[in-house]
Amino acid sequence: MSPQPARRSAACRLSLALLGVLTIGTLTTETLAADQAGDQGTNGEPIRIGVLSHRGETATERAWGPTAAYLAEALPGLDFRIQPLDFADIDAAVAAHRVDFVLANPGIYVNLEVRHRVSRIATLRNRVGDRESNVFGGVIFTRASNPHIHTLEDLRGRSLMAVDPTSLGGFEMAWGELAVHGLDPWRDLKLSFGGIHDAVVGAVVRGEVDAGTVRTDILERMATDGLVTLPAVRVLNPQEDPDFSFLRSTALYPEWPFSRLRHTDQGLAQRVAVALLQMSSNHPAARAGGYAGWTVPLDYQPVHRLLQRLRLPPYDKPLLFTLRDALERYWPMLVLGLGVLLIMAVLTLWVLRLNRRLERAKARLEQRHELILNSVAEGICGVDLDGRTTFVNAPMERLTGWRADELIGRNQHELLHHTRADGSPHPAQECPVYATFRDQVPRFVDEDLFWRKDGQGLPVAYSSTPIRDERGAILGAVVVFRDMTERNEAADKIRRHQAELAHVARLSTLGEMASGIAHELNQPLTAISANARACVHMVEAGRASLEHCSDVMERIAAQAERAGEVIRHIRHFVRKEPPVTRPALVSAMFETVAALLRPDAHRAGVAFETRVGEGAEWVLAQEIQIEQVVLNLARNAIEAMAEVGEGGGDAGGTDPLRRLTLTAEAVGRGVEIAVTDTGPGLAPGLAETVFQPFVTTKPQGLGLGLSISGGICEAHGARLEVESSPGHGARFRFTLPQASPPVPPSNPEAQHHGH
Ligand code: ADP
Repeated sequence: MSPQPARRSAACRLSLALLGVLTIGTLTTETLAADQAGDQGTNGEPIRIGVLSHRGETATERAWGPTAAYLAEALPGLDFRIQPLDFADIDAAVAAHRVDFVLANPGIYVNLEVRHRVSRIATLRNRVGDRESNVFGGVIFTRASNPHIHTLEDLRGRSLMAVDPTSLGGFEMAWGELAVHGLDPWRDLKLSFGGIHDAVVGAVVRGEVDAGTVRTDILERMATDGLVTLPAVRVLNPQEDPDFSFLRSTALYPEWPFSRLRHTDQGLAQRVAVALLQMSSNHPAARAGGYAGWTVPLDYQPVHRLLQRLRLPPYDKPLLFTLRDALERYWPMLVLGLGVLLIMAVLTLWVLRLNRRLERAKARLEQRHELILNSVAEGICGVDLDGRTTFVNAPMERLTGWRADELIGRNQHELLHHTRADGSPHPAQECPVYATFRDQVPRFVDEDLFWRKDGQGLPVAYSSTPIRDERGAILGAVVVFRDMTERNEAADKIRRHQAELAHVARLSTLGEMASGIAHELNQPLTAISANARACVHMVEAGRASLEHCSDVMERIAAQAERAGEVIRHIRHFVRKEPPVTRPALVSAMFETVAALLRPDAHRAGVAFETRVGEGAEWVLAQEIQIEQVVLNLARNAIEAMAEVGEGGGDAGGTDPLRRLTLTAEAVGRGVEIAVTDTGPGLAPGLAETVFQPFVTTKPQGLGLGLSISGGICEAHGARLEVESSPGHGARFRFTLPQASPPVPPSNPEAQHHGH
């Protein structure tokens, strides 16, 4: 379709359209208009009405001058001038605002509307004889005698004459109608152009062509003029319309519009429109112009649509739309768009910067997180629901010997937890980490074994805690474990040591008790047997008076009671008391020890003395244990002093050089208990080690007494200390918390026990 003459140039098309339309003479009534030139409007500037013309300025002035005069009369003070415009001129004149209003045919109007935004303010009412109409169309017809052509479809392959390729009513309307019926006149028909309407009608009537097309009312006008008889023609695709009485084949399109330009004042345009609408159909101005007045502007969309459909100007090519046009037309939107773009750019920059800061903060957090994870002593790893390791920290690598990349993604149980300590396999179902997934409860295992990469067992304590996502669904677990090797070894050592100590302590206590019991019981038993024998002798010799006998019996009983007392004390001593402290009377404890040691002291010729100072009567202690400590210390002292001086071996004799003193003195809020002797003092170099177990200078010694005593003192929050100088004896002491007497308060008195 490209090489069609109609597409060559819009200007050429416009000019021919004008020729076509004006040739029919509807607007060419030979009425002379009064010459209105010379009068100026009140603003001094005449208002110019551009009118499409092709017959020269005089004819146009003659036809339209009266209309301008009518407007000047209707709008006093304003001067209207007709500006005849050639088809080639009209576009430039409108573009340059050389006119204020423009009157042109619908085809040109549509072009001006699209290109220069002119807008119609009234539509012409056309007059043909006594009929008038503000719409028109095209009529396609053949000779009535032609037997072959009855419908538009019958035209296929036949010849058709139109007025001109650019004539709206004389060709384009028919083209549009043919196209609706599936016919392309350029391709399917033998197309020719007659130049003027009358020529087309003549050619058809004479049979030179099969069919022709002209604008409506031409046939009726020619019939009136006697140039043709209507029965001689057959209208194809006839349209019945009670409102439109002319023969026609196409749709109807509005008549010429009267338009204002964009620059034309709105108020003025309104007043002009009102004046035009008020013009009566028989007004001389209307008669001069060959029309019948004006009507409200009609809808020119049908013309737009037709030109669009036929791809004719202004729709033949994309409009040349310059940047300047765009700026002029769309500047508010452009400014708005630029503003929005600017805001968006600023926002984007802001978001980007925020993002960068967030990234940095995130990196810092991750770094800190990693630092924390790696600087703890515990191994930490994540395990997913399939048991695969998801992350590990550096201590985990160190403790297990596996590198992070060897652990991550692999089954943690199979690598580290496959075998139990006893060598039996450890099934995954029994693994506490898997159990965590099942019941979603954190658990702590304080003794288990992991396996290092080198195959060595790693005793561990660990916790397994479920990890959940933000909705609470379980994702896996985090396992935190601690190497228990050292702690287990230390605990083993302590256990062993305690077992040894307990064993030896039992032995030594048993031994001491055995000898103590022997010593203690020996004396009363000896006395009892001696007295009993003496009594028997006296009875046998007949010298026994009842009084004498009862006296002896009395002594025997006393000795038996003493033996009982000794046994009671021993039982008291060995009874296992609960490890709780309570107020204990110091003098009573000293008495217990004295009762146990008196025989030994006596035998070793040691003077035995106890002294309890003011405020030192009550201490907070587990009585029996402190008695054991004092007993230990006192026995050591007696043994040490046994080596000093001559020492009386027989009962009752004491050596002033051998003195054993048990003292209790209030010191601050505590009570210092001391065991002082006048023996040789500690062997040189012994002071540092004497409290350690198995340190002894005695051939039969176990070296445990002071160690056990030290432990007991420690359990009481006290420290057993020694002062010693060679040759001047030793002094062992420790301080217990002072106590008030238990309720009901007893009334202890400061005691000075001599022995
Ligand atoms: P053992 O009495 O079985 O030797 P101890 O722990 O009771 O064990 O005493 C350790 C050592 O401390 C004794 O062998 C002795 O040499 C020394 N020792 C203890 N008490 C005294 C003391 N009062 N005077 C001198 N040496 C003492």
